[in-house]
Amino acid sequence: MIAAQLLAYYFTELKDDQIKKIDKYLYAMRFSDETLLDIMNRFKREMENGLGKDTNPTATVKMLPTFVRSIPDGSEKGDFIALDLGGSNFRILRVKVSHEKRQTVQMESQIYDTPEDIMHGSGTRLFDHVAECLGDFMEKQKIKDKKLPVGFTFSFPCAQTKLDEGILLTWTKRFKASGVEGADVVKLLNKAIKKRGDYDADIMAVVNDTVGTMMTCGFDDQRCEVGIIIGTGTNACYMEELRHIDLVEGDEGRMCINTEWGAFGDDGMLEDIRTEFDREIDRGSLNPGKQLFEKMVSGMYMGELVRLILVKMAKEGMLFEGRITPELLTKGKFETKHVSAIEKTKEGLSKAKEILTRLGVEPSHEDCVAVQHVCAVVSFRSANLIAATLGAILLRLKDNKGSPRLRTTVGVDGSLYKMHPHYARRLHKTVRRLVPESDVRFLLSESGSGKGAAMVTAVAYRLAEQSRQ
Ligand code: BGC
Ligand code: MG
Repeated sequence: MIAAQLLAYYFTELKDDQIKKIDKYLYAMRFSDETLLDIMNRFKREMENGLGKDTNPTATVKMLPTFVRSIPDGSEKGDFIALDLGGSNFRILRVKVSHEKRQTVQMESQIYDTPEDIMHGSGTRLFDHVAECLGDFMEKQKIKDKKLPVGFTFSFPCAQTKLDEGILLTWTKRFKASGVEGADVVKLLNKAIKKRGDYDADIMAVVNDTVGTMMTCGFDDQRCEVGIIIGTGTNACYMEELRHIDLVEGDEGRMCINTEWGAFGDDGMLEDIRTEFDREIDRGSLNPGKQLFEKMVSGMYMGELVRLILVKMAKEGMLFEGRITPELLTKGKFETKHVSAIEKTKEGLSKAKEILTRLGVEPSHEDCVAVQHVCAVVSFRSANLIAATLGAILLRLKDNKGSPRLRTTVGVDGSLYKMHPHYARRLHKTVRRLVPESDVRFLLSESGSGKGAAMVTAVAYRLAEQSRQ
């Protein structure tokens, strides 16, 4: 062998060794298909518990009825406002749906800041803030004198008995404003708007972001009957047969169910696969003991999970020659966007060098290879777990239809899914392996959930108009 080849050979060996060492160290985060199928089965039972009358009150996966009964039929039209609160951005949109030969949608939107002190302050202040931003938006759009129908994408678990009501069950992710849990967010927003008195709004629908995503994708693909979010938080909704939804009257047709799968495991169901790192994340969170599945997979926690692993490995002398810096020890210093950067195929290792250098740990080439692999194990675990829960939904849809194969479309949104270089591909591959009897099309919601929320509002508006006539 000539020198260059020898050197390349030496580096591959080194890399393989390094990767084997990490795989061994993080074996508890790497699942066999057998384990994933087992988790899929557990989630299947959780869904059944959430849907059943007697089991629902104590179910951890809440399976919330959304009162969204159908995908838009293409006849909707009008001028709508959509509010989108609870994801990585607070966004307000104006959505015009018109109808010449075919339905077209025109959108304008603006992002508003939601400072942490507002997310963690009083509910009144939070809704005053939302109402203020809405006022600003209407002012800029010159529609303050109009009373436009509003669709409210509110990305938290809400109990609904009708479309324009949403009782917040519990805050998740970065929000924890007081006095909102147990209250109807439509009433709170209406109150804040009335108090101002400078404009009027007609809130017609509260929509979870998963539902908005399914509807947005449903606009382009009629077959779309599942919506999932893999971003700051995670969740899924799908179209369920009304006859299986004990909490809602009626047996004909379907209704969209917001699963709230982020709470999977809150009753101890996932203890065998949770690691010391998952427990530490939970202890340091705004909502200890809650959203345990979400904390294992979603973007709000992934960077922090990697950081905790790196700290432990450094302490044991497996990384950075044991160097531990104050930066490395600071919560939040390693972000999920860093995981995405480090896993890039071409520039990943140089990104690792850059990011780790900023943490002051003076990484060697070997350290960078190792950290890249830690990131891969953690993000792969996330994609695998989502594949298992999504697989359970797909099997349920297949059984509901009573067909041997399922052909369907899943609408997807969320920063982690969109920004990570390999996440989507890994998820798709694992789903197809776990549920071989499915032909799934994954459709990225290019325009977010706002368009979908407007479509739900449009349908509600059309029905309200019809009943007024
Ligand atoms: C919330 C869900 C939401 C998901 C994605 C979770 O924390 O409970 O309602 O759909 O985040 O935004
Ligand atoms: Mg969102």
